[in-house]
Amino acid sequence: MPNGFARDAAGRLVIAGRPAEEWVADAGDTPLFVYDRALLTARAAEFRRAMPPGLRLHYAVKANPMPALLAHMAGLVDGFDVASAGELDRALKAGMDGAAISFAGPGKRDRELEAAIRAAATINIESAGEMERAGAIARRLGSPARIAIRINPPFELKGSGMRMGGGARPFGVDADQVPALLSAMHDRGELQFQGFHIFAGSQNLDASALREAQRLSLALVAELAEGAPVPPALVNLGGGFGVPYFPADTPLDVAVVGTALKTLLDARPAVLAGTMFALELGRWLVAEAGVYLCRVVDRKQSSGETFVVTDGGLHHQLAATGNFGTVIRRNYPLVNADRAEPREMAHVVGCLCTPLDRLGDNVVLGEAHVGDLIAVFMAGAYGRSASPEAFLGHAAAGEILA
Ligand SMILES: *Cc1c(COP(=O)(O)O)cnc(C)c1O
Repeated sequence: MPNGFARDAAGRLVIAGRPAEEWVADAGDTPLFVYDRALLTARAAEFRRAMPPGLRLHYAVKANPMPALLAHMAGLVDGFDVASAGELDRALKAGMDGAAISFAGPGKRDRELEAAIRAAATINIESAGEMERAGAIARRLGSPARIAIRINPPFELKGSGMRMGGGARPFGVDADQVPALLSAMHDRGELQFQGFHIFAGSQNLDASALREAQRLSLALVAELAEGAPVPPALVNLGGGFGVPYFPADTPLDVAVVGTALKTLLDARPAVLAGTMFALELGRWLVAEAGVYLCRVVDRKQSSGETFVVTDGGLHHQLAATGNFGTVIRRNYPLVNADRAEPREMAHVVGCLCTPLDRLGDNVVLGEAHVGDLIAVFMAGAYGRSASPEAFLGHAAAGEILA
């Protein structure tokens, strides 16, 4: 059972101090995502303990944009990173100060740039054309656009689940094109330079790979900052902290990352002396706090193997079925939330009429009876909002912040 979860004396899974069945009773139905508030709080505290003092923590809203969860996160972190005007709106409604929000993502529409300028959010510029559009909108509105340049670095975060830097990418401005953008910003009152953003990769469990990416990022930013109209107020060094989705994964040692980052920042060049630094994390903050609960609808045998059929599936939790950016499908940790014993080996599948809808292949779990609850862990990030909810017309999953 993953950290933070246990069974009670009756063998039932307990989430945030109550049996899973009670959360389902509150929600009225399955499937249901339950996010444990105390685990979110503990994660943010772990970051503060491990990282250098003064390092800012940003939450990447795309990992989980549930409104109640965002409101809770707003009290734990120093800023939100959003990737659309819809997320910007949710971030503001959750109580995050506009000035503590940054907006990244290719293809920002004019109305999205306008919303960011009105909110005094920082726009992480992805191209020269985008910067000119932001400038024109700022002039029209008569209020400045706060600009950070997102750099597409000439290196990658080695061993990442998803690569977002290094080589030809739709994200950010190639490092060799950044000086021209910085020059174009001189004496332009409508474009207020804030700093830089570098995001080199995601889902990384290797502290030394993260340290190397941070070292390269800092060196690149120091070089580019020389050509900036003013020294950068804030540099967002990205994130990439991974979570152990599978039993063979070793959790990331954040203390090692923090110690290395402190050494790097202590030795930073003069041009960055007054700069604040931030890391932006999504899944590391929220993935392990979430459980996806679905109910066993049927069980059957086929060619001698047992299939446990649930009312859940990839329409809510695509990542757990191995269809969201994974090369080799592996099982997320999964249990029968209503009984631990006796155990059986079975395939746990969803209710969608597609062979892709597998929650667990050959898993050993407490014998699943029709009506039992199945709990799939690691469901706090890229779950409901990153799944094809409309596919096959089933109802949406519920969500509770416990
Ligand atoms: C997706 C994304 C994140 C969050 O990634 P995680 O792996 O969830 O931490 C952070 N920053 C940017 C720019 C992203 O695109």
